[in-house]
Amino acid sequence: MALDDPKTLKTIQTKLLIGGEWVDGSAGTTIPVENPYDGSIIAHIAEATAEDVDRAVAAAEAALPAWRALPAHERGRLLLKLADRIEEETADLARLEATDTGHPIRDCLSLDVPRTALCFRYFGGMADKLEGSVVPVDAGFLNYVEREPIGVVGAIVPWNFPLMFTSWKMGPALAAGNTMVIKPSEITPLSTLRIGELMMEVGIPAGVINIVTGYGHTAGQRIAEHPRIGKVAFTGSTATGRRIVEASVSNLKKIQLELGGKGPNIIFADANIPAAIGGSAFAIFHNQGQACIAGSRMIVHESIADEVIERFTALAKSIRIGDPLDPETEMGPLTSRLHQQRVLSFVEVAKEEGGAVLAGGKVPEGEAYAKGCFVEPTIVRAKATDRVAQEEVFGPFVTILTFKDDEEALAIANGTDYGLGAGLWTNDLTRAHLFAKKLHAGMVWINCYKRVHPASPFGGVGMSGYGREMGFEAMREYTQPKSVWVNV
Ligand code: NAD
Repeated sequence: MALDDPKTLKTIQTKLLIGGEWVDGSAGTTIPVENPYDGSIIAHIAEATAEDVDRAVAAAEAALPAWRALPAHERGRLLLKLADRIEEETADLARLEATDTGHPIRDCLSLDVPRTALCFRYFGGMADKLEGSVVPVDAGFLNYVEREPIGVVGAIVPWNFPLMFTSWKMGPALAAGNTMVIKPSEITPLSTLRIGELMMEVGIPAGVINIVTGYGHTAGQRIAEHPRIGKVAFTGSTATGRRIVEASVSNLKKIQLELGGKGPNIIFADANIPAAIGGSAFAIFHNQGQACIAGSRMIVHESIADEVIERFTALAKSIRIGDPLDPETEMGPLTSRLHQQRVLSFVEVAKEEGGAVLAGGKVPEGEAYAKGCFVEPTIVRAKATDRVAQEEVFGPFVTILTFKDDEEALAIANGTDYGLGAGLWTNDLTRAHLFAKKLHAGMVWINCYKRVHPASPFGGVGMSGYGREMGFEAMREYTQPKSVWVNV
């Protein structure tokens, strides 16, 4: 099997990667992969069943002793080689990701691919820096603590940033000496498969990485409940996260959850308004708003609300929407038809709740948009308690809320069940730091939004999940401490 249109995309594997071999699924069935720009089918990927997950776990278990025994710098060297290969492949990987997801190619070239390489490079360098400790204990005893890999790790990835999220999980897990079974989203599996090919090419041993492409309720569910998997790292919706926790109880596996968000983005009266407007547009419209950390609630001081709304609406209307492969395109289609319909349904919810649609709210007009899953950049004025200001829309859809004083701004910002990313724009340093402390969030951005780096921990609190990706925190997440006592 191969990609159906090798003229426009480099041919890549579409089978399952198990024990270093590309194999068909045991049921012999496939899943079509759709291009969200024109609805064409770009590939048929093998459909992994629960039985295939079992085979993949067995392969990962078999590969584990040798991989964890490999000197850490050797594991690191392989990840660094992979980072180099990803950089060499930037143009092809960017094209693949843009075609599969609808991300504008300019973003894939400047963010998705380079950030994926950076992540593997960061964790490649980290592999041999995971030191243990010697703990001062009772006289006559030596106590040292080593960090050991967990074993076989299951990773379940969503469709919004498939390439980057694959690296966020694989990088630390492999650097720490674990082996893996990874399931990309059935909607956007292609870049993960390509990473699998590159891993085999750079010499990552057979069975260290196993890729099972399949549906969540079958292959994903089996990963979550598998008795031989020691940890599941999950990124996706809060509803699925809950199901994964429930399925994990059989063997009490460790769970890491990166879930949804409803990011507050507060603009104070003393903010640099042009900077806040530009940053807020990136916060919500980048990747068509399909980001867990999207700044989906703009919380604006009432004294500047009219000016901010006027400027922000004008900017939203000027965004170039179109073919993701056109280098001029700033916003592509949403990643699936179903999701497009879901986002549009929130426009109806907003209207029913008495919200005012200030921009967008529909599919852009014109032949060029007829086949794609497009939604215009949408701005809705709403109340903080409205559904559109509480529930994650996960699209180019922002609600504007206003506040009169700092106390109210904080109450609105912290007034959802989520707690992932939060941003604020102010020139008052004291206020900035006070808010950073008080915001119910795993990440806070001051006079910027959605900054992410492999060295900085990423994750949320409350219904946004627990555990952290990236940074040294991630190495902790993928290891467990072993305390050794010596009677000296
Ligand atoms: P989703 O929960 O529907 O699917 C995510 C993954 O889980 C997919 O691979 C899917 O096949 C799998 N899955 C579905 N049902 C499953 C089950 N019962 N058992 C095991 N696996 C199952 O989410 P999505 O629609 O792909 O992604 C969008 C969501 O992801 C949004 O809510 C968004 O906020 C969240 N997200 C969070 C982060 C973060 O880091 N916090 C990052 C990106 C996306």
